[in-house]
Amino acid sequence: MSKVIISDVQNNEIPEIIKNVFEIFGVEDKVKDKKVLVKPNILGPFPPERGVTTDPRVISAIVQELKKCRSKEIVVGDNSGSIHFDPFKIAKITGILDASEGCYRNIAGEVLEVKVESKFIDELFISKIVKEADYVINVPKFKTHSLTTITGAIKNMFGIIPGGKKAQLHTLNRSIDEFAELLVDIYQIRVPDLNIMDAIIGMEGAGPTNGKIRIINKIISSDNSISLDSVMAAMMGLKPDIIELLQIAKERNLGEIDISHIIVDGELKVISGFKTPNNGILQRIRKKAVPHIFNFASIKPIVNHNKCKICKKCIEVCPVLAMSLTNKFPEADRKKCISCFCCDEHCPYGAIILPSWQQDIFNRLKGK
Ligand code: SF4
Ligand code: SF4
Repeated sequence: MSKVIISDVQNNEIPEIIKNVFEIFGVEDKVKDKKVLVKPNILGPFPPERGVTTDPRVISAIVQELKKCRSKEIVVGDNSGSIHFDPFKIAKITGILDASEGCYRNIAGEVLEVKVESKFIDELFISKIVKEADYVINVPKFKTHSLTTITGAIKNMFGIIPGGKKAQLHTLNRSIDEFAELLVDIYQIRVPDLNIMDAIIGMEGAGPTNGKIRIINKIISSDNSISLDSVMAAMMGLKPDIIELLQIAKERNLGEIDISHIIVDGELKVISGFKTPNNGILQRIRKKAVPHIFNFASIKPIVNHNKCKICKKCIEVCPVLAMSLTNKFPEADRKKCISCFCCDEHCPYGAIILPSWQQDIFNRLKGK
């Protein structure tokens, strides 16, 4: 049975928690004299208090513990989706550059083409360090996701793909089920050895960038990403078996999603009133639909003119060139939009609004 540890940050120091996690999973013997990759979530240039990227205190504690274990080389890095920003600048803003104590590296600098077991794609470029590392520590964030419902350990491994290529991969899928399948294909390129989830400042609602922050004060760890994500989902008040990513991972025998079959060390409590992305019956129908063919099923993001700074990030990141400047502000072309929500994910100012299905129908009737 896989094991998930839920540690309370209020009653314990973060370095103590990490030390304990290392002991429980026998990390010291596995990383001594080895090359280790620490893979946080560095989605974009967001300061830690925004709750978008991995808390630098967790990264700092992991790096310090690895140094004590005498790892031969420690690399901290992620491929941000903000391709027009200097990765070092992003790492600085997120606090991860300083927390890494000299171990941060721009992992997009060296890439490698690998074969992928996938019905969508045969080969992919990934950061070379992912294949070179003897041991990979995945450090995801406790967050919701408007498209995939959760952003956790499985989805964090999407970041092994450099830069803008990630957004392009959305064009290969016809539904959220298919996108989830591709995410699991990518996860399987390099299954992490250990997962330490930052659930200190989490995110609820329409994550992963513009949801509401939620103080959870936990660190959740496991050597199995699927069980870890299942516990996170249960804490959000969701049944793991309704989440596409977890259904697919379960079908492939990558891990346990039934909480009663997971050893949980710590208090697993549903977070009171936690808001998950809209997952009602209409949303579920939409998720199963084929946005490219049945455009009625897609949802068009709206730009909030009061918040938009016209930085054009949403235009740069859109994989199907659906966003363009119209009357000064960006606007999505409904005929082209595939509802991948990359624009929302990468807007630094929280200016993208993702309407509910019902609101979107209303917007269509108004000709928007
Ligand atoms: S919506 Fe966001 S990303 Fe797009 S231009 Fe405005 S501020 Fe920039
Ligand atoms: S407009 Fe936004 S949601 Fe639509 S395809 Fe472009 S990035 Fe994706």
